[in-house]
Amino acid sequence: CFVSLEGGDGAGKTTQRDLLGTWLSAAGHDVVLTREPGGTDLGRVLRDAVLHGDDLDPRTEALLYATDRAHHVHHLVRPALAGGAVVVTDRYLDSSIAYQGAARELGDGEIRDLNLWATEGLLPDLTVLLDLDPATGAARRSHAPDRLERESIEFHIHVREHFLALARAEPERFLVVDAAASPEEVHAAVRDRLLPLLPA
Ligand code: C5P
Ligand code: MG
Repeated sequence: CFVSLEGGDGAGKTTQRDLLGTWLSAAGHDVVLTREPGGTDLGRVLRDAVLHGDDLDPRTEALLYATDRAHHVHHLVRPALAGGAVVVTDRYLDSSIAYQGAARELGDGEIRDLNLWATEGLLPDLTVLLDLDPATGAARRSHAPDRLERESIEFHIHVREHFLALARAEPERFLVVDAAASPEEVHAAVRDRLLPLLPA
């Protein structure tokens, strides 16, 4: 069972991933918690390049995320799924569609196709969209903003709108949760939706 958490910066993706991990482990599942970019050793090099590079054009940026994802899926996600684990990732290909496809204007279809090629078509069983007003997300941030987080509020509003459009287009894969709710409330909503999808 493959679960991705999506949403803007400060929406609580990492918090929800960790709450899911605790709950799933207590229920006896093998759990692998991971993230993009940076879920593998090579991915951590790519993460540093994409978050701190000072001369990245949109296509190079899109390819760095796609490279990270290809490596992550091949070396970590698919082997874990094959071993029967529940894999929960903090961001997956919908981030690329929203950030590079929509906000960077490289095209939803082009970025989707690139990432389906990179992952040999691996889509999550469930994608949780933690929906939050970007200004609220930025105010929650505790670290210094990275290159993408320094983009304009309009950029982040575009990302949010596109995530919502992706969720409307694939309601069977997506759960949209109001990320302004408490972490416990969000976690309860995610649990309800995930429970019937879990292996026995
Ligand atoms: O979620 P996390 O903080 O690890 O994401 C790292 C940064 O990369 C964030 O600023 C996020 O907005 C950005 N990002 C992006 N395009 C992606 C994935 C993440 O711009 N496909
Ligand atoms: Mg962040």
